[in-house]
Order: sequence, then C-alpha cells, then structure tokens
Amino acid sequence: MLAETTLTAAERNAVASVPTGLYIAGRWRDTSATLPVIDPATGAVLCEVADASPTDGLDALTAASRAQPGWAATPPRERSDLLMRAHRALLDDTERLALVMTMEMGKPLAEARGEIAYAAEFFRWFAEEAVRLDGGYLPAPGGGSRFVVTRQPVGPSLLITPWNFPMAMGTRKIGPALAAGCTCVVKPAEQTPLSMLALAEILDRVGVPAGVVNVLTTSDPGPVMTPLILDGRSRKLSFTGSTEVGKRLLEHCARTVMRTSMELGGNAPLIVFDDADLDEAIDGALAAKMRNTGQACTAANRIYVQRGVADEFAARLATRLSAMPMGRGTEAGVLVGPLIDGDAVAKVERLVADAVGRGATVLVGGARTDGPGHFYPPTVLTGVPEDAELFHTEIFGPVAAITTFDSESEVVDRANDTPYGLVSYVFTQNLRRGLRVCEALDTGMVGLNQGVVSNPAAPFGGVKESGLGREGGLTGIDEFLETKYIGVRL
Ligand code: NAP
Repeated sequence: MLAETTLTAAERNAVASVPTGLYIAGRWRDTSATLPVIDPATGAVLCEVADASPTDGLDALTAASRAQPGWAATPPRERSDLLMRAHRALLDDTERLALVMTMEMGKPLAEARGEIAYAAEFFRWFAEEAVRLDGGYLPAPGGGSRFVVTRQPVGPSLLITPWNFPMAMGTRKIGPALAAGCTCVVKPAEQTPLSMLALAEILDRVGVPAGVVNVLTTSDPGPVMTPLILDGRSRKLSFTGSTEVGKRLLEHCARTVMRTSMELGGNAPLIVFDDADLDEAIDGALAAKMRNTGQACTAANRIYVQRGVADEFAARLATRLSAMPMGRGTEAGVLVGPLIDGDAVAKVERLVADAVGRGATVLVGGARTDGPGHFYPPTVLTGVPEDAELFHTEIFGPVAAITTFDSESEVVDRANDTPYGLVSYVFTQNLRRGLRVCEALDTGMVGLNQGVVSNPAAPFGGVKESGLGREGGLTGIDEFLETKYIGVRL
C-alpha cells in the first residue's frame, strides 16, 4: 500500500477540498464512524468520510420531507435557474472535480473531464424541461364536464447511484427530481463518495435550499436505506446499479407500492456485418468496450462479427487495444485505468480463464499485471464459445470477447438470447438491414454505426432485467411526476 505522501500537491488539495460529512438539511454532519476512500490505482487511502447510521438516514428523509412542500411550490423558473447555475458551476470546476473522480474511481483524467461535462449537461437539459411541464383541458366524451389534467411532483425521492459514473449517475437523477419539484436523499456508492459530496457542496453554494438535496455516505447500505424505502414519507426510488441489488430493492418497494426507476445491468451485443465500414466498426467497438476500462453497463460484452471479416476485425482491434497505455488515470497519456478493486480483477481473471478453457484464443492481454493497484490489461479473445461464462454475465473489464456468425436471423436470435436488454450496437452500411436489425433487437437502446449512446437529451434505459423507466430525454422528468386529473362539472 502506498502512503498518502505519494500524492502530488494538486491531488492532495483536490481531495482536501471535498467535505467529508453527511449533508443533511443544508448542514454538514460528522459521524463517529468513518469509511475509507481508496485510490484503486495505488491502494492508498485518500481520506475518510462519514459513515451514516440508520438514524442519520431517517434524519435525511425527515429533512427531505420537510423541504418538499416549499420546493414543490417554488416557481419552475426559479428551479430552472438554480439548475442552470449548478450546470455552470460544475463546468467551471471541471479540473478539480475530474481529479477527485479519477483518484477515487480510477478512470483516466480525459474520461473524468468528459463525465463532468456529461453530468453538467443533465442539469442544463432538465433546467430547460422544468419550465415546460404540460397538462390538458379536455371535454368529456359524454359532454357536461371537462377533464383538467395536471402533473405534480411525486414527492421525496431516494436516489441510489453506482461507483462507475459517480457524478453523472447522480445528476441524471437529481436534475429531473429538482426540475419536477421533488426533494431527495442521495446515496452514492461506498467506493466513490467524494464526487457526490463535492456535488452537494456545489448545490449548496449555488443556493439549493436546505433539505432539498441530502447526501448519505455509508458502508452498510441495507440497514440505512431499507427503513427509508419502507417509510411512507418517501414516494420514489430511482436506482442505478446491478440487477441483483435492483431486484432486492424492488421487493422492498412492493411493500409500499413505491414508484421506481431501475437502471440495471447489461449484456450488450455488438454486431459487425461484413458490409460494415470496418474503420467505423473498430472505432465503435473500441468506444463501446473501453469506456471506463470496460466498467460500464453499456459495455460491449459480446462481439459478433460476420465470418468473412472476423479475422481482420479481430486483428485490427487487437492492435488498437494493445497500443492503449495503461496506468494511473492522473498520468498524462494514460487511456486505460485500473479496475475498481481486487474482486473486479479476480472476476475478469476467472472469466478469461473459463473462456480459454472452453476453447477461446487470446490475441492480446489475457493475464493480470503485477504491482500495486487493480490493473488488468486490454484483452482480445476470439472463438469464444456461446457457453463461456463471460457471454452470460457482465465482464466489467477491458476484455473484448469475439465470436463469429453467418446470417442476420442467426445473430439476432443469439443477441436476444439473454435476460438483459439495455443496449446493443450494429455496424452495417446497408440502411434497410440496419433498421431491420435495430427493430428486432430486444434492448431499450441501439447504437447504429456508433459505439456510444449516452446523451442527456436521449431516453436512456433498458428492457427485461436491465430495468424500468428512462432517464434523460423528453420523458426523463416524467419519472418524478404524478399525473392528476380533475373532473370539472360545468
Ligand atoms: P451495486 O452493487 O448494485 O450498487 C449500486 C448502489 O446500490 C450502490 O450505491 C450500493 O451501495 C447500493 N446498494 C447495495 N446494496 C444496497 C441495499 N441493500 N440497499 C440500498 N442500496 C444498496 O452496483 P455497482 O457495483 O455499484 O455498479 C455496477 C452495476 O451498475 C453494474 O451492474 C452496471 O451495469 C450497473 N449500472 C447500470 C447503469 C444503467 O444506467 N443501466 C449505469 C451504471 C451502472 P454500496 O456501494 O455501499 O454497496
């Protein structure tokens, strides 16, 4: 384990600038227990942050409940202006926030800067949506009365986020919640609390009223969050994380029939037809596979290449991946960061060994690196058999697993043969085939000739076990609104 003194002054200052308490009712609260924040590139402890107890959790919900009526009554234009200020503040602070994110999570600085821009854009997008809530005034078909249809905030919301996009997964929920008039309790992942605490401080600074946003960091999420889900005062759970945890939380939500949005795991197929522009397909595969060192719900998990171009595609992808410098994300030129922890490396190692044991061939990579930090090198596997475990579980690492196919109908059937349905990618220059396959794929999103689909202005979300609801886009705010109909007798 490296000592804290190995940090540069800029790194130390960035970490020291982030508050480490719980943020409840507009105040920072220290706790007797703390939890460590660890740099996955070195194993060094960066700092300690507050570790909330169940009582702290209930206090946060009380604060959100008390603030709810005032926030709902705040004119949409004021809510919008606050979100715009937060958007600007995030962008102005990009360098500090990106450095903090890279240190606690590992992604290369360029990607962390990209995430800050992406995260800030959710605030701008929902600032624009806050003033466009519509309703209706309709004649009853039988005559005599009118239907007034209006939309109201759902109420205090619980927002639970993962470690892989520690800022953007927060703003993707906080943005629409605040725009709709909902207060919230946010629980970031234990491994990446600093980004959310830094965000809370920014929201406080731009003038978000006390209690509207509350942040709980905890090492024990079940005992802290379950009472909040079961407490009748919370009206909504928006969760991003694994399908396994999502299913457990859905069971709790059933007890109070709580509204839910679930952004869960994926198992994305990436399909390359022999008429694809191979340069475009390789760029797309690289983006879909290597973003966040493969630790994304949208990561290309199964790569299907039509037989005629399979060898060339694999060889060119291997050349590109093996040229990507790996290291601590704060170092110049690094494009591949560490995985989040030792378990993640062990999982990738096990999945690769299983695939190779079943007949896959390693073109590049294929073995973990020694030394401190949780590194696994970019890896390309070909001839991966359908029963390899990595085709049925999220790899969450920099491993491109390639197999071949012959016909369109065959590859669609194979791509859809999974309980997941978040995103898929298709590469072909034949527009009719492209659209036909996009429609046939059972996923909430498809990238046609592109390897990135995330955009705050587009509806993000999955079908089947990848989730419920959509974040971003024109419908993202609906997740935090209830429709009310008022029957008016004339
Ligand atoms: P995770 O283990 O499911 O955790 C997600 C969040 O849930 C964390 O904040 C975690 O806290 C919390 N949590 C765990 N158990 C809980 C409980 N009993 N009650 C309340 N909260 C609980 O997922 P992860 O490893 O952080 O993230 C990776 C997963 O997220 C992958 O499956 C990925 O595909 C998915 N993901 C999906 C999307 C999407 O938009 N569909 C986006 C990003 C990531 P702790 O950190 O303390 O465990």
